[in-house]
Amino acid sequence: MTENFNRIWHQHAADLIQRGIDGRMVIDGRRWNAADGSLFDCISPVDGKVIARVARGKAADVDRAVASARAAFADRRWAGQPPAARKKVMVAFAAQLRAARDELALLETLDMGKPIKNSLSTDVPSAARCLQWFGEAVDKIYDEIAPTGDNALALITRQAIGVVGAIVPWNYPMLMASWKLGPALAAGNSVVLKPSEKSPLTALRLAELALEAGLPEGVFNVVPGFGHEAGEALALHMDVDAIGFTGSTRTGRRMLDYSSRSNLKRVYNELGGKSANIIFADFDDLDRAAATAIGSMFYNQGESCNAPSRLLVQDSIADAFVEKLAALTPQYHPADPLDASTVLGALVDETQTQTVLGYIQSGVDEGARCVAGGCRALQETGGQYVAPTVFDGVKNSMKIAQEEIFGPVLAVIRFKTEAEAVAIANDSAYGLHAGVWSRNIDRAVRVSRALQAGTVHVNQYDEDDITVPFGGVKQSGNGRDKSLHAFDKYTELKTTWMRIDSAN
Ligand code: NAD
Repeated sequence: MTENFNRIWHQHAADLIQRGIDGRMVIDGRRWNAADGSLFDCISPVDGKVIARVARGKAADVDRAVASARAAFADRRWAGQPPAARKKVMVAFAAQLRAARDELALLETLDMGKPIKNSLSTDVPSAARCLQWFGEAVDKIYDEIAPTGDNALALITRQAIGVVGAIVPWNYPMLMASWKLGPALAAGNSVVLKPSEKSPLTALRLAELALEAGLPEGVFNVVPGFGHEAGEALALHMDVDAIGFTGSTRTGRRMLDYSSRSNLKRVYNELGGKSANIIFADFDDLDRAAATAIGSMFYNQGESCNAPSRLLVQDSIADAFVEKLAALTPQYHPADPLDASTVLGALVDETQTQTVLGYIQSGVDEGARCVAGGCRALQETGGQYVAPTVFDGVKNSMKIAQEEIFGPVLAVIRFKTEAEAVAIANDSAYGLHAGVWSRNIDRAVRVSRALQAGTVHVNQYDEDDITVPFGGVKQSGNGRDKSLHAFDKYTELKTTWMRIDSAN
């Protein structure tokens, strides 16, 4: 019975692949091959097999997509619709995602290896909620009138920015796309989305679902392809007004360069992280703290920008705490992502596996103590699996503490005092998230204020929702996704100053 249940998603996957997954780009409301006909293989990290052949977009395709987006923006077929009408379409778009939940979840899991359980329960519903939330917000936001006195009427209005290029990574392909699409589309912009070459499939389906929901043709186009081809062409394009980018800090740097070399388009970067999670000895429920530290770290195979990958533990409890971590880690053993009970799936590809294994070796070489995992797993499947790994005795200067690994590797760093913990946490190029565990309210507030991070979690990690901003400081980026603040990225403020003459 269980065996049959676990095979269900394999059967669905086989059916889907047998029917054929359409890898053509979506421009102007239609499917297209690349202008030069080139394709790339979409390889599943679940078992190393090719599941689709995808159009390899390049500059000519990006030109066509941007022209389509520009035409749609210029004739105001979308931006000109009343906010309530845009809301209706966005809410319908969200409903389409929910209706297609199983197919989208399966595509996501096959494409990038996350457990089907998570794709079903988190990725699809969260993406749908994001689109719905921004859609529902759009007819509830008012503009402003400045306090100018009798002789003037000054309006401060928000206007859609124009054509938005959205460039997203592979770790949450659909969710990261929806964090851009929600506010950008709701505000009336046109969008050209460039998904990662490692996970292009759900983006293409999103574009079809948007059309079915009533989004006018040309408003949302998807050009799959490689970063140095389609990504570069989009970010350098003279007719793109803003780039909403999520990805590595390395590529984020390039985005700023592309902007400076082209039309000074706005660039909003959501980049990498190396988040510190600080456990003080005064926290009374260390079992929950340990379970959360491990669960948040290994969720999505550790391929989360805000993964709490540096765990700072106060000396007096460190031995006992590390024992708890080592005992909990095997619960996250890698397994078949299509098995509904799996909690840790496959890494995205062989390159990422090698990167993670390289960092594990560097931890060993630099003298950290591996207390769990530390090796590749399930190699016989042909897929990409690494055992969840915990290092104790890590120094913050080590490579595994300074660099983003983006895999299931946790670095435990011991500290003595509050001041030392804050100094270690802030000694990082990144500043995305941080965690503080303490029952001392003064300490929790003091430390939260001192941490250089876009989000600080207190006595939990990773509990948030669409209502709060997400983004980082320092080299973790600048813009904020989620919440009403996300509209700041996709609208321009306009001042209209009108002189009012007196009656006589
Ligand atoms: P990446 O930077 O390699 O790629 C991201 C996107 O940029 C992809 O679509 C890629 O094709 C494109 N790209 C790559 N090189 C390019 C180039 N030269 N020109 C134009 N486009 C280019 O990142 P990744 O490996 O896909 O994603 C992992 C990174 O994303 C991690 O650093 C992670 O922390 C970060 N991330 C950040 C957030 C956040 O909200 N801050 C969320 C998720 C992931």
